[in-house]
Amino acid sequence: MIDRTEIFPNVIEMNYQARKRLGCCVYLVFDGPDWMLIDIGYEDTVAEIIELIRQMDFALANCKYLVATHADVDHIQGLKKAKELLPQAETVGHPESSRLLKEGDRIVTYAEISAQDISIDLPTLSLDRTINEGDKLALGSKSLDVWHTPGHTEGMLSFRLDNLLFCADNIYRDGCVGNIDAHHGSDIPAFIESLTRIRESDVEWLLPSHGPPFRKDNAQLDSTIARLDGYQHMADFGTCAVDWPLLDEWEDEVARGVLPK
Ligand SMILES: [Zn+2]
Repeated sequence: MIDRTEIFPNVIEMNYQARKRLGCCVYLVFDGPDWMLIDIGYEDTVAEIIELIRQMDFALANCKYLVATHADVDHIQGLKKAKELLPQAETVGHPESSRLLKEGDRIVTYAEISAQDISIDLPTLSLDRTINEGDKLALGSKSLDVWHTPGHTEGMLSFRLDNLLFCADNIYRDGCVGNIDAHHGSDIPAFIESLTRIRESDVEWLLPSHGPPFRKDNAQLDSTIARLDGYQHMADFGTCAVDWPLLDEWEDEVARGVLPK
């Protein structure tokens, strides 16, 4: 038996629990005997994570849900193996994540980034159930609200539990956001809406899928939103921009015969 390290009441995070970096954040939420996992990470850490959970005296048969916040390989590669070890748990995620997992889309999930010689295994899987905005995940006497928060990916979900928001790859403690990439289904206007929704909410703590949980700070969210707003009008993220004012200026200059000075 090992002691449970609760980072918030009813919340354990497996990197903190293991006191070492395993990969993405793996949140174990529990109420009484019932528990669930938000993301599972890479396949090679699944056995270690589940063994730690067993040693914390959680009955493996009481795992209610295995949640995919989205279908990126670093969050879900281990989902199939986790389901094999926890067969009674229901695998859940957004319909778009479900499609990517079923089809084994290696590009959108980042299993394959040929320019960087990244090519890793992506086990295909049919989620037991799709969930979306407005759904609730019941856990003991508690319930997590499902938020659809697209931007980094189309299928990104966040989960609210009381004053906590498991905010996936929407924002991290340093104000960075999940990467923006057209081939990954990123959408900057949607990202801004998701961040604005988080800003407007009365949640107090953000529990991201990478790095440490942190207190929601509206000044930080404002500066992150302003940065993404800038990206909408810059070439930096290519076709993810909504416009590029320089090209309008140039069009005007060539039409007026203005030459480079
Ligand atoms: Zn991620």
